[in-house]
Amino acid sequence: MAPKIRGEECVGCGTCVSVYLQGVWELKEDKAYQAFPEKCSECGSCVENCPVQCIYWE
Ligand code: SF4
Repeated sequence: MAPKIRGEECVGCGTCVSVYLQGVWELKEDKAYQAFPEKCSECGSCVENCPVQCIYWE
């Protein structure tokens, strides 16, 4: 299952969008959301690279 996000903490840097090339995350009004969670391979790259640690495993 794809990780969760505390959306109110997102600063819209776009790191999670660019770090995972399969395209799980997208930005909308400077907030990240999971556009394609079914593409998640559970690699953890977005969790590890989010600068404000707002993406997390449940
Ligand atoms: S890496 Fe974190 S702060 Fe940056 S857009 Fe993604 S969720 Fe938001």
